[in-house]
Amino acid sequence: MDNSNSSAIGRRTLAIMGSTGSIGRQALDVVRQHPDMLRVGMLCANNSWELLAQQAIEFRPEYAVICNPGHYFELQEALRGSGVKALAGMNAAVGLMEEPEFDIVLAAMVGFSGLESTIAALKAEKTVALANKETLVAAGSIVTAVSIEHNAPIIPVDSEHSAIFQCLKGETAGSWCPPYSYTTSENCIEKLVLTASGGPFRTWNIEDIENADAAQALKHPNWSMGAKVTIDSASMLNKGLEIIEASWLFNMPVKDIDVVVHPQSIIHSMVQFKDGCLKAQMGFPDMRVPIQYALTYPFRCSLNTKRISFPELAGLSFFKPDLNRFPALRLAYSAQEKGGSMPCTMNGANEIAVAAFLRGEIKFGAIPHIIEDTMAVADVVGKPSLEDIFQADESARRTAAEALKKYILK
Ligand code: MN
Repeated sequence: MDNSNSSAIGRRTLAIMGSTGSIGRQALDVVRQHPDMLRVGMLCANNSWELLAQQAIEFRPEYAVICNPGHYFELQEALRGSGVKALAGMNAAVGLMEEPEFDIVLAAMVGFSGLESTIAALKAEKTVALANKETLVAAGSIVTAVSIEHNAPIIPVDSEHSAIFQCLKGETAGSWCPPYSYTTSENCIEKLVLTASGGPFRTWNIEDIENADAAQALKHPNWSMGAKVTIDSASMLNKGLEIIEASWLFNMPVKDIDVVVHPQSIIHSMVQFKDGCLKAQMGFPDMRVPIQYALTYPFRCSLNTKRISFPELAGLSFFKPDLNRFPALRLAYSAQEKGGSMPCTMNGANEIAVAAFLRGEIKFGAIPHIIEDTMAVADVVGKPSLEDIFQADESARRTAAEALKKYILK
């Protein structure tokens, strides 16, 4: 293995929020490949105490935190004699964000639940490798302001945003890492182009999409990801969340962020500059690439991914997204254009709708209806405080839980 960069990097200590999820497990695979560059100082999981204990015994962090206190004694028992300190509760995890040994916090929790620890990590001046896009969707103005104030960079892990970050390396005035704070005159970017695989329903007709069940929606054609993001990909709300995420990270209005459906998922996203030049970042879809880039940035290290052979590529194709079959994408543009607390409302409603869909209570087509119904009656706070964001989220969840009753399958 070529680790020639390791002396330049030094050894970085990671705190992994969401270590038992899809991103967390793939991040640990990256750590396994580069033990002289990366070590683990903290692992945190929501419920999966058995896998957490197994990971802690392999990686020997100082701390293993289980958010659900109901599993604390099982975790503590499993880690007896290992030298790893077992802790319980989200507050314990948030408190640990200040540990001086931690260099990077990988924010890989699912959904709004990741917000508090991400803000705590930024306030403690940690580099945040951000996989948890809902954090920026719900509270982008606050999270980016905290990041800038504390000079704590946010390195994107989401593959599209990692692609744009890679395309922008050396192109931006001022800050090296997102969130960028250039003025319009310094900005050489004309637009961002996010690619979308189109998900499992890309070629389906509207009636079949409406009636799809969870097993069908969970069959993503290209990417191996967790259940929440896979369902969001099927509805294309994921791309909607991602335009909002990109808007905050790269300081661009959503009107300058396009989505193009690219079923092969070879181009991970593109930047179009003011001279008409486009840069694209390419590779076979493998989440370990953006995860590793975020953890070893600004260095590139070896990784055993599949390589592209251009003669063997059968061709790359591109389509306009169909907002009739995938109305969730339109909702995301309109939420970010309304601004304030509206994206937070949209996100909270979606989390409730997706959970109900995964439990088999509603059909797939009800998801965008529940989001739209919730957005329609929401009180929008223009410049929300963190308190306003928590309230908007709670209120969206309550409204969505009420709204979904009329879509419950008999
Ligand atoms: Mn993505």
